[in-house]
Amino acid sequence: MSAFNDLGLNARLIRNIEKQGYEEPTAIQASAIPLVLSGDDVMASAQTGTGKTAAFTLPILQLLNNSRRPGPKDVHCLVITPTRELAAQVADSIRTYSGGLKLNSQMVCGGVNIRPQIRNLSRGTDILVATPGRLIDLLGQNALRLDHVKLWVLDEADRMLDMGFIPAVRQIQSALPKLRQTLMFSATFSRPIEALAGEFLHQPKRVSVTPANTAVSRISQKIYPVDKHRKGEMLRHLLRHETSGQVLVFARTKYGSDKLARQLGKAGVKSDSIHGDKKQSARTRALQQFKSGQLQVLVATDIAARGIDIQQLPMVVNFELPHVPEDYVHRIGRTGRAGEEGVAVSLVSAEEVAQLQKIERLIKQSLPRHEIEGFEPEHRLPTKDVASPGKRRPRNKTKSKTHAKPASRTQSRQGKPDHKKGPKAKAATQRPRGAQ
Ligand code: AMP
Repeated sequence: MSAFNDLGLNARLIRNIEKQGYEEPTAIQASAIPLVLSGDDVMASAQTGTGKTAAFTLPILQLLNNSRRPGPKDVHCLVITPTRELAAQVADSIRTYSGGLKLNSQMVCGGVNIRPQIRNLSRGTDILVATPGRLIDLLGQNALRLDHVKLWVLDEADRMLDMGFIPAVRQIQSALPKLRQTLMFSATFSRPIEALAGEFLHQPKRVSVTPANTAVSRISQKIYPVDKHRKGEMLRHLLRHETSGQVLVFARTKYGSDKLARQLGKAGVKSDSIHGDKKQSARTRALQQFKSGQLQVLVATDIAARGIDIQQLPMVVNFELPHVPEDYVHRIGRTGRAGEEGVAVSLVSAEEVAQLQKIERLIKQSLPRHEIEGFEPEHRLPTKDVASPGKRRPRNKTKSKTHAKPASRTQSRQGKPDHKKGPKAKAATQRPRGAQ
């Protein structure tokens, strides 16, 4: 008998969970499932990788299974997600967990033909997963009604805020009935998120899963100091010497992710990129090829990577650090997914010191630096004492066991290339968010 039995879920759902091989509920599931089943509004702070999708999907399936079927164009549960990838991921989970129940679910996102979506919605939908823009289009075309929604889920609310979706979410809320159950999931409880909860939720119960007891603690995190112009070379070195498995690489810009995937391709590494400028069909194809193992490397921007859930992804590489420190936690959460161990590697140049310090402060850890022989940077990274900012600790340099082949004929005696000047050790100019 599994520990899921104690949460009040019915036998059919327990069987579906067991089929997935889950042995016990994750922390967020243990706290959120009983609250959702008892009808409370819930405000949960949980990152991706914590099992949060099942934490809301399982009790919702149980609640809806006990209620009437929806009428034409009606929706009983509405799940809003910031990205298409996440919507696809949530819709997949719903299908997995709802096996054997007579509930129908649908996903509607932009970037694909709206006609089939309108046709499917006309029959009525138990659970609709949607991105905000397409949902508003569909509402405008009178394709669905939201006045019988019993449950409303806002997934990754922090990301919706970052992406400027809140006006759209407000518009959606105005079409919902006042009497409903609302669940909001966010990676963090920032002040703006609290304000949104005040607006959308009614006396919510709070559930919080901190990185310390989630996937993050199972992830081995390493910093590889490197000069900016040698990052591509270092990544290829890591792919040759540190892993033979699949790697998700994060780049900061769309242009940068395309360029990197091309360069890896030229070096014989099967790779592709995924970002917001790519057509939905190209994004889906790249993701499927990565999931099926045809690609060794997928290069992604932060926003496009939302919703990527690949079991047992052994390694995540930050080719560049994100400007928003919370994104670091999201990124590394792609490895070490529920119960698995993972490695998260960051290639950090002197320009990124400020971002690195912000990350270390957020996660309350000083990340170990590993210099790779042959890649020692001209501009070294300081080791920051995160416990007391400003106070310097002695350097904590550990050499990795791997060795780089000489980078080029023009290498100097210290193993550093002579060409060009090294990067200047000043903070990089910040790009505006939303550029992805
Ligand atoms: P999520 O945080 O919802 O993106 O889920 C992350 C991953 O954890 C998914 O691949 C789920 O299949 C998996 N998962 C969810 N719940 C459990 C559980 N109780 N035990 C093991 N794996 C789980």
